Amino acid sequence: MTEQAPGKVDMEKIVSLCRRRGFIFPSSEIYGGLSSCWDYGPLGVELKQNIKQDRWRAVVQERDDIVGLDSSILMHPQTWVASGHLEGFTDPLVECKNCHLRWRSDDFKGNICPSCGGELTEPRLFNLMFKTSMGPIEDMASVVYLRPETAQGIFVNFQNVVNTTRMRLPFGIAQIGKAFRNEITTGNFIFRTREFEQMEIEFFVKPGTDEKWFNYWVEERTNWYVKLGIKRENLRLRQHSKEELAHYARLCSDIDYLFPMGWSELEGIANRGDFDLVQHASFSGKSLDYFDEETKEHIVPYIIEPSAGADRSFLAFLCDAYEEQLAEGEIRVILHLHPALAPIKIAVLPLSRREKLVAAAKQIYADLRQCWMVSYDDAQSIGRRYRRQDEIGTPFCVTVDFQSLEDEQVTIRERDSMNQIRVPTSELKNTLQSKLEGESLFILPPGGQIWKGDKGE
Ligand code: ATP
Repeated sequence: MTEQAPGKVDMEKIVSLCRRRGFIFPSSEIYGGLSSCWDYGPLGVELKQNIKQDRWRAVVQERDDIVGLDSSILMHPQTWVASGHLEGFTDPLVECKNCHLRWRSDDFKGNICPSCGGELTEPRLFNLMFKTSMGPIEDMASVVYLRPETAQGIFVNFQNVVNTTRMRLPFGIAQIGKAFRNEITTGNFIFRTREFEQMEIEFFVKPGTDEKWFNYWVEERTNWYVKLGIKRENLRLRQHSKEELAHYARLCSDIDYLFPMGWSELEGIANRGDFDLVQHASFSGKSLDYFDEETKEHIVPYIIEPSAGADRSFLAFLCDAYEEQLAEGEIRVILHLHPALAPIKIAVLPLSRREKLVAAAKQIYADLRQCWMVSYDDAQSIGRRYRRQDEIGTPFCVTVDFQSLEDEQVTIRERDSMNQIRVPTSELKNTLQSKLEGESLFILPPGGQIWKGDKGE
């Protein structure tokens, strides 16, 4: 089933890098792993945090029309009746009569099992929500569900937010958190898993302005990926056909990314109309309308929903950043991650393990760690150490050499160009700050110089 998009990095290479360098491990691996569940290792957790943080910054911190929320994963079961998930959150499935594997019927044409070639049954509907029970007694009354999306936690809090903040239409509520779906077709690494994280915004607008806001959010969200380094040619917009639209949506466009297995959804932007607020008002018996001060009318806002996956974004950022270069008969991997996303921002490297050098380097390391995630590495040749950092996307290395002990200057080496500058230690923090924010390496601080010495590559 796994196909390979021409010119794209193989998924196996991404999986192998993630494993080798501690970005992602199979979940509960010592017991043989758990299908389609993954654990984010020391570097993975940093990258994922950075993705979520940048998203939060872009949609909450830097805007005055969106506030945040962190609602609980377990919600009142009526939520899922009102939302339509209990009835409508189903995928048509076919089962192989021979090996009994189940497949999503919209994944392929024909009735031959892709695994063993056996005959497939007619499609049947299968609910994707995970069920569990609350309290000591397991009976029908105690059934609750793990939320399959974060959105519903926002809808049920709409009135709470209106009443406790001064938000007026148009405004949004953002949430980042775990969601669970008992997916039928998993695979492609972290692309589609059963436990994942969503980054959603529900943006409430006056009916009639929804089309304008829909287009606004499509543009805004696309630009976010591009700003963080995804090549525009690897993104495309795909509008859902009428048949494909979810039960709640009036209009939906996917921002697709050219993943190793081909074009697939990275983020969906939906115009949900007034469906959710009307449904929850009707099932809860509580008013969820909004008093418009201008027209003195009660209205039910329409909702524009940009909904992205943190894990899928992680995969897209990794694939887009991955490059292999052939140097001196060796393949070297460089992750061209945007500095805002890079798990480690700076590596401090003493040229040798001599005591004086180590002391100076450790001092710099301790100092920089106050501001960023920094790593310290004194094992093997300087060239190898640079390569280790390139492979995990560290934008800058700071090298402390013998001359540093005399002139109190250190070398900054840039990952992508491999260019180097020499700067006074007293200027190091400010210089790194500017470079991490995108300033050209060759804008030098007082006393700095372009370094033409041994690059140690
Ligand atoms: P798909 O059919 O491609 O799995 P979907 O259309 O069901 O996705 P939505 O319900 O629109 O997805 O969810 C919004 C976003 O949440 C998706 O664009 C995706 O980034 C993320 N997402 C959804 N399901 C999963 C999953 N099982 N694993 C990882 N991310 C997911």
